[in-house]
Amino acid sequence: MDFLPLFHNLEGRHVLIVGGGAVALRKASLLVTVGAKLNVIAEHIKPELIELLANHKGSYAEQAYQSIALNKYVLVIVATNNPQLNKQIADQARQSNVAVNVVDNLQLSSVIFPAIIDRSPIMIAVSTGGGSPVLARLLRTKLESLLPNNYAKLAMLAKKFRDKVKSHFSYPEQRRIFWEKILQGPVAEQALAGQLQQAEQQLQNLLDNYQDTSPQGEVYLIGAGPGDPDLLTFKALRLMQQADVILYDRLITPAILKLCRRDAEHIYVGKKRNQYALPQEEINNLLVSLAKEGKRVARLKGGDPFIFGRGSEEIASLAELQIPFQVVPGITAASGCAAYAGIPLTHRDYAQSVRFVTGHLQDNNIDLPWQELVTPGQTIVFYMGLVGLPIICQKLIEFGRDASTPIALIAQGTTVSQVVYTGILASFASQIANVEIHAPTLLIVGEVVQLRAQLAWFNKN
Ligand code: SAH
Repeated sequence: MDFLPLFHNLEGRHVLIVGGGAVALRKASLLVTVGAKLNVIAEHIKPELIELLANHKGSYAEQAYQSIALNKYVLVIVATNNPQLNKQIADQARQSNVAVNVVDNLQLSSVIFPAIIDRSPIMIAVSTGGGSPVLARLLRTKLESLLPNNYAKLAMLAKKFRDKVKSHFSYPEQRRIFWEKILQGPVAEQALAGQLQQAEQQLQNLLDNYQDTSPQGEVYLIGAGPGDPDLLTFKALRLMQQADVILYDRLITPAILKLCRRDAEHIYVGKKRNQYALPQEEINNLLVSLAKEGKRVARLKGGDPFIFGRGSEEIASLAELQIPFQVVPGITAASGCAAYAGIPLTHRDYAQSVRFVTGHLQDNNIDLPWQELVTPGQTIVFYMGLVGLPIICQKLIEFGRDASTPIALIAQGTTVSQVVYTGILASFASQIANVEIHAPTLLIVGEVVQLRAQLAWFNKN
């Protein structure tokens, strides 16, 4: 992030504009709407700008700019077509610690103007960090069409009740939950439909009847999918954005974490192979104690929480203590990786069933019903199978699967770093022995892997 968006209260504050043309006029028109006190200096000032200044108690000097003290200004806008002068004023503003915007010059500006969506009191500012004002404007158009005009009314209603609601609740969490209900429920619908009186009445009724009790916490066990944030479900996203605390581990990509509520507390409880950051039992206990404090806790799990995710263990103690929880299914690694690698897990001709197994190595051994895994016509997906890969290939052949059966390894599936390796059981372990592979990885064994050649033409890997 190069520029921090802040909303500036300019009421009665002094702003200097150097330049008197069309651009200066545009900026001045915007600045007077927020009550800034303008002073314009330029050799030639457009009559419209002079009129605007006259109407808003602004001042001007129609003369060439000569260095003046900038201390009284909170913002200087430079809009001349003299690059040297622009630089000189920008330097001077910086030396005086005054925010400066040089029109169309990112390097010289300490602040930049965003594209604005005005649903006062709601304001949305869109910026591309100065990279492409046109793109910012296009985005603004899109957002404009998403936001009904009556959002402004809803915001005004909320503002009107803000202090009342604040004094009604002793617990901030409870207050937030109340507002979330209001702003997503029938009161909001009425306000958006323009029926303000009814909305206000209903809001008052709900507030009068809302108990100010200590909030009850709950836990959301959320399947966050295999990595690509686009694979989250709507429900996952909604709960991620309302949770007070986020518990996550190493399978959760930064892109997904970014979608959680910004001010939520983030707790890393990750486990690495053979290296436990937080033992499972402590995670279970942490969920209980946070929920008991009244927090809404999102426990993010990679893929699906009930597939090799120990999800059921995490909610067992919650169930026992009758702490409310929800389980949100996610796209498991097998589905995500297969789709993004162009490998169908079943196929009318090659695989009539698919089996998910764990290839986790224990004491140099993988305890699996190998006899069942070699039956023809099935695809086997190994989770956690990278370390045991040589044993997996060897056992499958030993128990009768054809040595030329295709196998694929998908590393960091569905993410921008996804890499797919393919081979056959007989030689795959040696084929990838010296390749640097980044976790997490998934193995797919079966004839379906060969379909990738036809189906993965779209895939850059
Ligand atoms: N609950 C998860 C699985 C957790 S076990 C799910 O449903 O997907 C962890 C294993 O999942 C990893 O060792 C790896 O085998 C697999 N895995 C998870 N995400 C993956 C990804 N993006 N790419 C490849 N394998 C992945």
